Amino acid sequence: MTVKALRLITQHTMFLVLTYGGRLGISLGSALPCLSCPYVSGCGGYCYLMALQSGVWGLAMPLGDMVSAQGLEALYYLGIFVLLAALFNKLWCGWICPFGLIQDWLTMLRKKLGIREARLSWRNRERLKPVKYILLAYLVVVPLLIAHAGLSGDFGLPFCQICPAKPIMPLFAGITHHLALDLTNTITLVFSILSVGIAGGMLVGMFYKERFFCIFCPMLILIHVLKKISPIRFEKEVDGCLGCGNCHRMCPVDIRDVQEQKTKKDVLSEDCMLCLTCVESCPQDKVLRLKFLQWPLFASSRKYVARHFPMKKRAHASDE
Ligand code: SF4
Ligand code: SF4
Ligand code: SF4
Repeated sequence: MTVKALRLITQHTMFLVLTYGGRLGISLGSALPCLSCPYVSGCGGYCYLMALQSGVWGLAMPLGDMVSAQGLEALYYLGIFVLLAALFNKLWCGWICPFGLIQDWLTMLRKKLGIREARLSWRNRERLKPVKYILLAYLVVVPLLIAHAGLSGDFGLPFCQICPAKPIMPLFAGITHHLALDLTNTITLVFSILSVGIAGGMLVGMFYKERFFCIFCPMLILIHVLKKISPIRFEKEVDGCLGCGNCHRMCPVDIRDVQEQKTKKDVLSEDCMLCLTCVESCPQDKVLRLKFLQWPLFASSRKYVARHFPMKKRAHASDE
């Protein structure tokens, strides 16, 4: 079995567990480092971004509650999030996140229809990078303003209010009311218009550009900052690299760093989702490898490439 096939099986299994698992009594908790959206009733685990912004276990919690049992519970959820995000790091993005898989489905559909991927130059991709930091700042500051500066509770869960997963993912459970306008007051109306508008724009973006939303996802940064304490290592033996460029050509999110890294072993960059496509397509034995501490999990190999990536397929991979 190829790594690509194993990844697809894992992604679909996790999608079923995280979207419908609650109906079978499965619960993977409320601190998951992926967009497993709690607005899907009956889901099997909750995205931590909701807890982080909330007034129950997160940043909108009043000061008095922080020094109570509730504060300890909030720390517990933070601890679970840190543990899970450190343990699997970007494997959450490439192998587990249900919203990541929805983006991959749109890419598969585009390829089936024979539509070429939209071009996004490296420079423009770099220009878009700060957006996820801005969203992270928004996600942190607004709940603090609610808790400590009297900002209206209608601004609560500020990122969820505009997250494209909120209107899109519940559709898989037959829930459509997150697409409706909320006429309660002006703030809720503006948020509901933004929510549907952003989700629609993202659907178009995700169709034409692989993993388009991941460019903006604040969860990606939270996972990435834990890289230093993660046992997951993505390494390159720089001396063995031929500079053939297969890793860059095959990368679904156009990462250049793996090819261009000439000195450091560590090649796990901010936008990498550890899909391992570059490792599968590297023709040099053990030049690219994924490790858990010092134990290798998967390494590039000449034999693997000869068997699964014949030359013709490699040359046209980005147009598949
Ligand atoms: S970056 Fe993409 S795959 Fe990772 S958590 Fe965000 S949406 Fe999911
Ligand atoms: S709306 Fe988005 S950020 Fe909020 S819980 Fe759902 S997936 Fe997470
Ligand atoms: S650098 Fe490699 S592992 Fe990371 S996203 Fe690109 S192909 Fe996947």
